[in-house]
Amino acid sequence: MAKKVTIDSSKCIGCGACAGICASVFAISPTTGLAEVVAEPTEADEAAVEEAATSCPGAAIEVE
Ligand code: SF4
Repeated sequence: MAKKVTIDSSKCIGCGACAGICASVFAISPTTGLAEVVAEPTEADEAAVEEAATSCPGAAIEVE
């Protein structure tokens, strides 16, 4: 089953790493400058989503 991903905006510093790793799920919002989830990950995205969560310098990405 595909995982659910959320971003804690209070921890996000807007570095863009997550969007760079998995652009189908993460994007930097032009209004807030912070990351947002643009689509729930499919099973094909799971490895990239895990990598983004591990790479996030603010530990803002939670994968359930
Ligand atoms: S990698 Fe983490 S800190 Fe960087 S933009 Fe994504 S959620 Fe924000």
